[in-house]
Amino acid sequence: MEMPDTVIVGGGLAGLSTGIALAESGIDTAIIEARGKAKADIFGFLLWPPGTRTLRWLGALPEALRSGAELESLTWFVAGQEHTWLNVDLAELGAGTFLGIRPSRLESVLREAALAAGVRIFDSVDDWSLRRERAAWTVRLRRDDGPVELRTPLLIGADGSGSRLRGELGLASSRWQPRGQAIVTGVGGPLPERASRQALSADGSGGCVSLGEKASWLYTVAQETDVSDPERALRQYAHLDDADEAYATAFDQVERAVVVRPWTITVPRWATDGAVLMGDAAHGMLPHLGLGGSLTLEDVPLLREVVEEAVRTGDFCASRLSAFQRRRQARTAYAQRISNQWARVLCSTTPGARTARDLAMRRMARNMELASRFYRELASPSVPSLGTRMRMMML
Ligand SMILES: Cc1cc2nc3c(=O)[nH]c(=O)nc-3n(C[C@H](O)[C@H](O)[C@H](O)COP(=O)(O)OP(=O)(O)OC[C@H]3O[C@@H](n4cnc5c(N)ncnc54)[C@H](O)[C@@H]3O)c2cc1C
Repeated sequence: MEMPDTVIVGGGLAGLSTGIALAESGIDTAIIEARGKAKADIFGFLLWPPGTRTLRWLGALPEALRSGAELESLTWFVAGQEHTWLNVDLAELGAGTFLGIRPSRLESVLREAALAAGVRIFDSVDDWSLRRERAAWTVRLRRDDGPVELRTPLLIGADGSGSRLRGELGLASSRWQPRGQAIVTGVGGPLPERASRQALSADGSGGCVSLGEKASWLYTVAQETDVSDPERALRQYAHLDDADEAYATAFDQVERAVVVRPWTITVPRWATDGAVLMGDAAHGMLPHLGLGGSLTLEDVPLLREVVEEAVRTGDFCASRLSAFQRRRQARTAYAQRISNQWARVLCSTTPGARTARDLAMRRMARNMELASRFYRELASPSVPSLGTRMRMMML
């Protein structure tokens, strides 16, 4: 039997980055991961500065930048006879690095770093069971090459928004999905610029994000009834963005268009005795503003502080581990709220909602100083100030 200080359930973005951080602090860490190999990419990561700051802190940013693209601009436009443009120059914004990268590339960068830091990764775990006795967990892994037992005082739940561990621990959760809405997503060819561009159209929204020299992430947010032909739905954006033929070329090279219906997950309590949730397992959110992965990475330094203290004192009770939630709740709840709001307005069928959406975007485009401040504050580790939030609403 192995006896690590902590076992992380889930070897995705949350599990691998936390594994690196803990191992570098001298905390003996094992990860159990259901998958045996990387998933095929059906979307891309646009990582905001809170996420890339953690990657830098973990020493993984240079390699991630080599595998992806540092974005230079975020552009939104309201499609119409005369497009209304809102263009944020990210160098001028001075908020930090925005990164576009394929999830499989980032995972392989983090995985290599985790192994180098001494994390033990148990892949292809078909099934596992838990038993708690004398203030420790026994985790029994079922694998093709035979069972393994791990005994640990601390479990970290990093197994995503559908977290099985959360259920096993009896931590309640609820889900929310924008009614009747779907996202069509795929990976396409390279874009002419290192940019993220999003078009608001009468039917919804669509966009593209550069993921490096060879690929881009392409997506459309639309009513479910409008995505029966996913490839066609995805291409709608290319017709809206007439800026450059090369944008259309990226759409011609799409690998596979997939329809997804993600959800926001609310978990009132993230910790119990001997276990704590993080990443999407604790605060999974809609991908509409591309914040979920960044918020997941932002968890890592704070979770490490809480775990270091628990390991040092040998106290893994729920009240100590809940310090993590207390420090993260305001920021993650705010990000979930604005992602939900944005999802509601993107392709609402409520009369007048789209007119209000386009009007707000036009006013924001005329007040770039406020738009930049909002982006800058969202790219910092705190919740945007009340003043900025109120002015955004009153635009
Ligand atoms: C279409 C789409 C687009 C997105 N775009 C962006 C974006 O642009 N920017 C951004 O920041 N975020 C984006 N996100 C959100 C982002 O993907 C998540 O926030 C992030 O992946 C969360 O990381 P995680 O490690 O918590 O969860 P996951 O990435 O879901 O990883 C969970 C891991 O746990 C493993 N696992 C699951 N169950 C078990 C089990 N029972 N036992 C063992 N292992 C298990 C899984 O195999 C997986 O490896 C997007 C999401 C979607 C769906």
